[in-house]
Amino acid sequence: MKIAVLKESGAETRVAAIPETVRKFIALGASVAVERGAGTGASISDADFEAAGAVPGERGEVLAGADIILSVTGPEPSSLAGARQGALLLGALDPARRADDIAAYRAAGLDSLAMERLPRITRAQSMDILSSQSNLAGYKAVVDAAASYGRAFPMMMTAAGTVSPAKLFVMGVGVAGLQAIATGRRMGAQVSATDVRSATREQIMSLGAKPVFVENVAGIEGEGQGGYAGEMSAEYQAAQAELVSSHIAKQDIVITTALIPGRPAPRLISDAQLATMRAGSVIVDLAAEAGGNVEGCVAGESVVRHGVTIIGAVQLSRTLAADASALFSRNLYNFLAAFWDKEAGAPVLPADDEIVMAIRAN
Ligand code: NAD
Repeated sequence: MKIAVLKESGAETRVAAIPETVRKFIALGASVAVERGAGTGASISDADFEAAGAVPGERGEVLAGADIILSVTGPEPSSLAGARQGALLLGALDPARRADDIAAYRAAGLDSLAMERLPRITRAQSMDILSSQSNLAGYKAVVDAAASYGRAFPMMMTAAGTVSPAKLFVMGVGVAGLQAIATGRRMGAQVSATDVRSATREQIMSLGAKPVFVENVAGIEGEGQGGYAGEMSAEYQAAQAELVSSHIAKQDIVITTALIPGRPAPRLISDAQLATMRAGSVIVDLAAEAGGNVEGCVAGESVVRHGVTIIGAVQLSRTLAADASALFSRNLYNFLAAFWDKEAGAPVLPADDEIVMAIRAN
């Protein structure tokens, strides 16, 4: 069983294996070939991979005879020429936006597994690339907000007077939002947070933050389908807008993370609401790529409106490439190891398994 690890292209800094997972795959009986330079963006040298037992090579050598191909973002189909028929291709393949590439993988005889489609079930937690990367993005959003903010986060009592603590509001308390709350608290901000799922109220309080909830209209009780939120009623949206209007004018930092699978991100902050914020406030919109939670947000850019900086964050985990690669690589290892058949010396993916059905992209 030969596993190929590809060097990513474009803006991608992460890598789909680290020396630790290389060793673990070898312990399972596999051999691992890593494309030269694959780890550079994550501060892992070819020598580090070699020391773990991997064989370095160029793309063609690494792909030749490989049974499993590991990637972070789906590779250009034409760059996979020479891959074996029936090989598994794992990564965040983004079938919703890359249908043509998925079709090209299929035409090349590859079995594509879109790892971002894992179901939110307990068994899949350790394999979940969305969770592992969102957690880092939630942390980095707060760090980036602090770097752009012209004031300090913690309260400081000095001989020259008192610096007031920053007020940080987190909208959407999933994996990224929870880490944003925890990070904001560690940095000394006064943190409040909101979500449509009532189950998050206790999680917010357990992190020492203040829950801000629509009280008079029902939200999604507990978890929505598969742990995801759904689209809210017009009545709820109006009540939420009113609540946000009264709260946001007093906030210095806002981190928005609200996503609805398969739909544009819900609009949570209007331009009129932005205008009520103090000049110098900072918003980091983690939903920027899905259309943004904030009116006027531009994905991949930082714009200033009404004196408020809006950062349209894109793939923030790429800016923490070493940690992001380590977690991503372990997610892929955990997936393959869970399905590894020791006798066959290969992963066996039952067609009727809930996880396999969810991620199979062909
Ligand atoms: P997500 O990225 O889909 O959405 C982020 C958050 O935005 C969610 O909490 C959602 O409720 C919220 N949101 C959506 N619309 C909103 C609106 N109009 N206003 C305010 N908030 C809104 O969510 P996620 O980070 O993937 O996590 C969602 C849940 O799934 C969490 O409870 C998480 O613990 C769970 N989860 C479980 C697993 C697993 O068991 N394997 C894996 C990942 C997540």
